[in-house]
Amino acid sequence: MRAEIISVGTELLLGEIVDTNAAFLSEELAALGIELYHRTTVGDNAQRLKQAITEALARVDLVLTSGGLGPTADDLTKETVAEVLGLSLVLDRPSLEAIESYFAKTGRPMTENNYKQALIPEGGAALPNRKGTAPGVSVRKGGKWVVCLPGPPQELIPMFREYVRPQLEAESRGVIRSRVLRLYGMGESTLVQEIADLLSKQTNPALAPLASEGEVRLRITASAETVAEAEAAIIGLERKLRARLGHTIYGVDDETLEAVVVGFLKQRGETLAVAESCTGGLLANRITDVPGASAVFDRGVVAYSNRSKEELLGIPAAVIERAGAVSPEVATLMAQGVRDRTGSDWGIGITGIAGPGGGTAEKPVGLVYFALVGPGVSLVREARFTGDRQQIKRRTTQAVLDLFRRTLLPVNPES
Ligand code: ATP
Ligand code: MG
Repeated sequence: MRAEIISVGTELLLGEIVDTNAAFLSEELAALGIELYHRTTVGDNAQRLKQAITEALARVDLVLTSGGLGPTADDLTKETVAEVLGLSLVLDRPSLEAIESYFAKTGRPMTENNYKQALIPEGGAALPNRKGTAPGVSVRKGGKWVVCLPGPPQELIPMFREYVRPQLEAESRGVIRSRVLRLYGMGESTLVQEIADLLSKQTNPALAPLASEGEVRLRITASAETVAEAEAAIIGLERKLRARLGHTIYGVDDETLEAVVVGFLKQRGETLAVAESCTGGLLANRITDVPGASAVFDRGVVAYSNRSKEELLGIPAAVIERAGAVSPEVATLMAQGVRDRTGSDWGIGITGIAGPGGGTAEKPVGLVYFALVGPGVSLVREARFTGDRQQIKRRTTQAVLDLFRRTLLPVNPES
């Protein structure tokens, strides 16, 4: 089956909202093995919408639309679909009753134009909307199939899952599955060299690298008759990649470095406290984004000024004076200080120059020192990051979390 998506809404064309519905539907279609040929965005304009639907139906068998099912005059999707398919609109009783009871429940008055929402192209099926008033529509004619979904994602997503996906599953042959391996510590160009022989979008399973903020990802995509076959193909290629890339791979899919670190600490029954200067609490923020972090994370201190480093972490003013606030000595004393004062198993200290000002020839913007102190471990690293203030902060926390992850690995490649 081949499909297209049409996103309807002038707000989309103005850049006021981002088309997350099209992204959601694309991902769902890919997982079902349905080939998506085009995605079109069109404003709330009858003529251009008609043209978009007509063109899409000339190319593919299935068209999914998002938006324009509401009660107002600029909501035109159903009317236009009916026109293109040469169907009239008829009243759908169950939809009308659902709309009436929705208004009764919410205590809001129902206006005349809400009746318009209960109209659907003749021969079509109304798709109930549990989160709003506008029903969706599924209508077929002459080998073509059009599905109209409401614009609000909280309405579109459940409607798609409940009524559309089961039908698509029944009619499509084959599945596509994918898995993303997440890597840290190897640049994209090195990675591409290491796995040159495995990299191809043409093979099945296919392998594609994606560079993103401070890390690289590898997407494995397999198409097969069944989910089990696709999964098996993915696992086969993943094994080869793991054998070659080892601990550079830190996680899969949505797994984050912070989640991996929290998981390791939980397994070990150990705790962590952090002292941050240039990252301003970003490391603590990332760690506390992980559900269940409270079992391992004691506290984070943002010791930004020299005075706070002295008062909160007990770093002698003389050391800051001599070595400078951005130095391996101060990073280590920050880690030790926060560890000792909290009685945590692990302490992390971060100090650096996030820019854009404050750099010197000797200590340029992007220079960061970070230290990790724990049972039998005392490490300090220097790094030079590029980018703006936010990127330097983000990249610093990536590097810190990765050093910690590698240190906590059952077999420690850092030592
Ligand atoms: P309503 O009954 O709420 O008017 P509708 O089906 O007519 O629903 P639209 O009027 O097109 O949908 O959009 C309503 C709201 O839904 C938008 O203001 C926006 O917040 C959200 N929305 C619409 N289209 C998209 C999209 N493609 N991706 C993400 N959100 C969207
Ligand atoms: Mg609307």
